[in-house]
Amino acid sequence: MFNALIVNKDDEGKTSAEVTQIGLDDLPHGEVTVAVEYSTVNYKDGLCIGPGGGLVRNYPHVPGIDFAGTVEASSDDRYKAGDKVVLTGWRVGEAHWGGYSQKARVKADWLVPLPNGLDTRQAMAVGTAGFTAMLSVMALEDHGIKSGPVLVTGAAGGVGSVATAILANLGHEVAGVTGRPETADYLKSLGATQIVAREEINETVKRPLEGETWGGCIDAVGGEMLARVLGQMQYGASVAAVGLAGGAALPATVIPFLLRGVNLLGIDSVMQPYDNRLRAWERIAKDLPMDKLDSMVVPATLNDLPGLGRDILKGQVKGRVVVDVN
Ligand code: NDP
Repeated sequence: MFNALIVNKDDEGKTSAEVTQIGLDDLPHGEVTVAVEYSTVNYKDGLCIGPGGGLVRNYPHVPGIDFAGTVEASSDDRYKAGDKVVLTGWRVGEAHWGGYSQKARVKADWLVPLPNGLDTRQAMAVGTAGFTAMLSVMALEDHGIKSGPVLVTGAAGGVGSVATAILANLGHEVAGVTGRPETADYLKSLGATQIVAREEINETVKRPLEGETWGGCIDAVGGEMLARVLGQMQYGASVAAVGLAGGAALPATVIPFLLRGVNLLGIDSVMQPYDNRLRAWERIAKDLPMDKLDSMVVPATLNDLPGLGRDILKGQVKGRVVVDVN
């Protein structure tokens, strides 16, 4: 028997989450059984621990969209007992039981071997948020990052913190947008050279084009902020659209695309093909300074998850939570 965070839903649709003992036979089918060492808390996890957000279809449910650990048993040739692995995406923790458990069973296709230079704790300090930040940096690079500051919105959150540290380490000037002025020193310690107050940029678009300010942008916020940022991009610069912490609508005009050749790049981490996953994890091991990653980490246990799930939905988690499931 081992511990897992089980979420149940009652007849009135109210969910409750509790650490419970389950057995191997309770786990879903899959080729690889993993002894989970660490998991983490992403925005989506907040939804899956709590209200569901339409992501979880079946209860009881084990959330946790990411995990890292050691293979215990595998019927697939690509993995054997003792291999260190990491998993993000593929709707694990939503449609399939996830990483908030001391053991998980998944498809071999969903796993990635832990890259050299990262341990399982560091991999979960990165997690989906950091992996997505790296995908965003790679997308901006593929389209060319212009000179001048790269804007990171939702900077003190998970995606934003990792994006800030990677971009700064690659030698880019980084401007971080935050609604929490008290995180300014933290963001500067990650490498941000400019702090932009959320309210300065989170306003309805009044003019479709403003001054050409940003050489690139990683946007975790969406909504009015993304719409506004599009009009502030330099000629030919790109925005990686990652998140919707501030809203799913995009109340923008097409003028920045037509007159400034601005690129809006969609970033998806869930269905990302295997080769690109490997490339992103290798880049993380190379380009994300581990001391900066350590400074983002908030340690937690399975018992802390119900509270952390609520906090992340309110935008109150700073940096990256690492959950030691054991
Ligand atoms: P976090 O909650 O850690 O970070 C989000 C940050 O956005 C907050 O810390 C806050 O930063 C800012 N924020 C929150 N609410 C608002 C608001 N109403 N208006 C403006 N800013 C706000 O979440 P993650 O970093 O894990 O995820 C960020 C977003 O990216 C989420 O929407 C998530 O769903 C999405 N995502 C998408 C992925 C993909 O594959 N495309 C993968 C991973 C995440 P601050 O306090 O600094 O202002």
